[in-house]
Amino acid sequence: MAEIEKVKCLIIGSGPAGYTAAIYAGRANLAPVLYEGLQPGGQLTTTTDVENFPGYPEGISGPQLMEDLRAQAERFGADVRFGLATASDLSKAPYRITIDGEKEIETESLIIATGATAKYLGLEDEKKYAGMGVSACATCDGFFYRKKVVAVVGGGDTACEESIYLAGLASKVYLIVRKPFLRASKIMQERVLKHEKIEVLFEHNAVGLYGDNGVEGVNLVKRMGEADEERYDQAIDGFFLAIGHNPNSEIFKPYVDTDEVGYIITEGNTPRTKVAGVFAAGDVADSHYRQAVTAAGSGCKAAMEAERYLSEKGLL
Ligand SMILES: Cc1cc2nc3c(=O)[nH]c(=O)nc-3n(C[C@H](O)[C@H](O)[C@H](O)COP(=O)(O)OP(=O)(O)OC[C@H]3O[C@@H](n4cnc5c(N)ncnc54)[C@H](O)[C@@H]3O)c2cc1C
Repeated sequence: MAEIEKVKCLIIGSGPAGYTAAIYAGRANLAPVLYEGLQPGGQLTTTTDVENFPGYPEGISGPQLMEDLRAQAERFGADVRFGLATASDLSKAPYRITIDGEKEIETESLIIATGATAKYLGLEDEKKYAGMGVSACATCDGFFYRKKVVAVVGGGDTACEESIYLAGLASKVYLIVRKPFLRASKIMQERVLKHEKIEVLFEHNAVGLYGDNGVEGVNLVKRMGEADEERYDQAIDGFFLAIGHNPNSEIFKPYVDTDEVGYIITEGNTPRTKVAGVFAAGDVADSHYRQAVTAAGSGCKAAMEAERYLSEKGLL
């Protein structure tokens, strides 16, 4: 049997949360080992301009920001590796993580920074127009649609919140809702339904997008009664998905608490999970803010907590 590698601080995930945790853990002499997963650099590598990360007055490209964060983590000794965590045993310390189904790592502390993946409708056109009019984050991309026309897909609280946020920037927001009602809370429903810039399209499905240089419109199907439907195109400039996220918490679920969607529940304002020495940072533990800077902030907290935990246990 292959030898088990022993480390003090293992970080799973290479988004802003993971790399920031690695910067802090490296500078605290925890000799962190970080596994990048299938998406080295995380979600921001799929976007062009990041204009809201502090410190970049002209904005920065997502891939460049993530390369810089990685270089900063490595400068302080983080051992950044390609590999996917495929199983965990957090039943007792030191904790056991399996990488790529074969390599075993035993770690005294663990920082889970595996992010959350936005759900899409599954249309080919969503891929075709990724970064060219299709977005799953109104806070991130709404600014690019000032005085333009956008559509939001979804019927829950998030879709309503994103519609209201976008209505503050865009000239018109179509909220595309599959059902004949909104699932959002009463108060959100009221705010959306009486908003002069938001038009709710009940019983509509988006089935395609069109445009020569990015999204110029959406193909819609309106359900009319049991058997009938009407197909039409609506001109839009931006198409926003707000149908939820999948937190990447599956392999940790038997040990840490999660909410009904799968977000890891941490103690109050801290990244502590219910397992001592196991911390969760970034989008995997944040159903609400889901921003690069908030992920980075919680990665910092997680590394500080790991340092304190290891120090109290006399493991440093
Ligand atoms: C298109 C797009 C544009 C965005 N624009 C902005 C913006 O302009 N400003 C902003 O603030 N936010 C933006 N966001 C949101 C931002 O990207 C996220 O909030 C942020 O990346 C979350 O960071 P994170 O570290 O929690 O996780 P992520 O960035 O999601 O990274 C998760 C990491 O975990 C790894 N991972 C997952 N599972 C495993 C596993 N089992 N083993 C090993 N590794 C694993 C992945 O490979 C990845 O490296 C955008 C998001 C998208 C999708």
